[in-house]
Amino acid sequence: RKKWNRVVGVLKELEESCETTVGRLRQVVDAMAVEMHAGLASEGGSKLKMLLTFVDNLPSGSEKGIFYALDLGGTNFRVLRVELGGQRSDLDPDVEQQPIPEQLMTGRSEDLFDFIASSLYRFVEKGNDSVQSPVTKELGFTFSFPVKQTSVSSGVLIKWTKAFAINDMVGKEVAGALQQALTRKGLNMRVAVLQVNDTVGTIALGRYHDEDTVAAVIIGTGTNACYWERTDAIIKCQGLVTTSGSMVVNMEWGNFWSSHLPRTSYDIELDAESPNPNDQGFEKMISGMYLGDIVRRVILRMSEESDIFGPVSFRLYMPFALRTPVMAAMHEDDSPELMEVARILKDVLDIPDIPLKARKLVVKICDVVTRRAARLAAAGIVGILKKIGRDGSGGITGGRSRSDVKMRRTAVAVEGSLYTQYTMFREYLHEALNEILGEDIARHVVINVTEDGSGTGASLLAASHSSSG
Ligand code: ADP
Repeated sequence: RKKWNRVVGVLKELEESCETTVGRLRQVVDAMAVEMHAGLASEGGSKLKMLLTFVDNLPSGSEKGIFYALDLGGTNFRVLRVELGGQRSDLDPDVEQQPIPEQLMTGRSEDLFDFIASSLYRFVEKGNDSVQSPVTKELGFTFSFPVKQTSVSSGVLIKWTKAFAINDMVGKEVAGALQQALTRKGLNMRVAVLQVNDTVGTIALGRYHDEDTVAAVIIGTGTNACYWERTDAIIKCQGLVTTSGSMVVNMEWGNFWSSHLPRTSYDIELDAESPNPNDQGFEKMISGMYLGDIVRRVILRMSEESDIFGPVSFRLYMPFALRTPVMAAMHEDDSPELMEVARILKDVLDIPDIPLKARKLVVKICDVVTRRAARLAAAGIVGILKKIGRDGSGGITGGRSRSDVKMRRTAVAVEGSLYTQYTMFREYLHEALNEILGEDIARHVVINVTEDGSGTGASLLAASHSSSG
């Protein structure tokens, strides 16, 4: 007995618990806007941290000159240079990447920063820029570690993550440590911006190319968003004054949670077995790190309930055995016999020779999981638009109908492979934006793909925060 009806039952249950009707998505939109308010009202007021970035100036496109960025966040670091001509144009940065010698990752902070400063010095020297120039060069410093930001160009290291463990640095000012190393090296360069979250670089890039940009979203291995907020709405920081009257707020939206999110038993198990249970709930339903693993769990359940997948493959028990790009390849297999699905099931999950009917089921699982992810991401985006009054719900004039709403053109910068490389994800996201907003409003909302917020974006922030104005 194949127990086909059991498998169909598992699928049906999955579909029901992943349901994202427009009504449900609108509840998520509202919850997101409410949580944003709560996170801005008080420290710890919401699962959304709503962190101040002190970035109160985004590039206008009229910036001129040569600007630098330094991107430190993993085992490699990158140095970049962009030359801006004063008109929005294609950015064509010079980039150099190099590994950090292992012993520097666990040694003394001075040695690490001296090494970085020397690399920068050589990079400046090699380019069309003079090391001796009396004009101070402006640097954007992307430092992707937990930092308590204290101004646009300073912040204190809370702890190291990844392969780093430099004890004398914890609790110290990171931009200051770099600045001192630059000075020791005799490099006339100023750390203009300390960027601790790459979404901020993404919104800078977005604004540089499109002046209507109000938010940035990253959907890759993880997910996060930031947006441009009025300082008087940042209630938890009374008396905050900026010349622009606004500031970029880093939402840390991966940690968003609401009872309206459609949650399955697979999500609950994934969360419980993760190193950070009860954290990053939104991210665990949306981002590339997890989608493949949700699909693996569903296939495992089906395999346990019936024998249509043959004997239960041990690979199905291995966490993350099915990576999201591989899952996407099955989802997007358009061959009539689903040969790519067959190949992946065999090669990756060690499930050979299953009937076409069962392969179709696997594609359906991928579809359900990805569709839910993309639609929830869309709801999150609309939540941001609602918070800043750009969802078309606020501006109805003279009691006219919804179609007469005056809606300003609004752009959102999006970065990350899940969005850029996974066509079905992208299409589901756009479809949901249209459904939630209605086409009349949605046509004023544009999604722009940006690339390299952590590098190029940081150099643009150096430009918009340069001391020469
Ligand atoms: P980051 O790791 O900095 O977020 P990316 O934005 O490139 O970098 O995102 C990488 C993630 O995107 C991978 O972990 C993977 O889950 C997902 N991904 C990459 N390529 C694809 C693809 N073709 N289809 C679906 N997901 C993909």
